[in-house]
Amino acid sequence: MSDLHPGPCRIPPQSGTAFLLRASEILRIYDPMGEQVADLFAFKQDDHACSLSSGRTIDYASKIYLSTGDRLYANDSRPMFRILDDKVGRHDFLLTPCSQEMFEILYQHRGHHPSCFENLCRAFEPFGIRPEQIHTTFNVFMNVEVDAQGLVRVKPPRSRAGDYIELRAEMNLVCALTACSAENSNNGSFKPIDYEIIRRPCND
Ligand SMILES: [Zn+2]
Repeated sequence: MSDLHPGPCRIPPQSGTAFLLRASEILRIYDPMGEQVADLFAFKQDDHACSLSSGRTIDYASKIYLSTGDRLYANDSRPMFRILDDKVGRHDFLLTPCSQEMFEILYQHRGHHPSCFENLCRAFEPFGIRPEQIHTTFNVFMNVEVDAQGLVRVKPPRSRAGDYIELRAEMNLVCALTACSAENSNNGSFKPIDYEIIRRPCND
């Protein structure tokens, strides 16, 4: 039996969306043009106190760069996602989503700037999720290097046009996903992000 899915949806540049992802469904996130970051955050569908945790995940994986076979954990230590496939192999789980304040502090930007945090807040709002419940995102395709002295540098993504990552939901989730709005994270230009939800018959 082939995959049952209607095809990818597009997230326009500097925007975001939210959707439900059932246990065993697969979220495939594409970088359609290359060098574009997508921030992902998730809550357990029926318990918003349970949310994606960078700290738990890095602790249990004993590494900061997560890829095929690794799990992303919730704050209560239950697995939320498992990475089934990964064409890029470099994603970030250290940095929070870009925000208005980040653009003011790091970029000395004045006036409104679109941001992943604002887009995540807007996408989660219809689910009754408040801004203060959103924490460190899994920053798909974001290339953050940490050197031996602990210095953190944001480099251009390694993703090329058509690359993707697949994450399988390990519980029923409400997810939000963005096409990132930060100049430095996306090598200076803002592109869309594509995603699709794949429902495969479960044999295990
Ligand atoms: Zn961003």
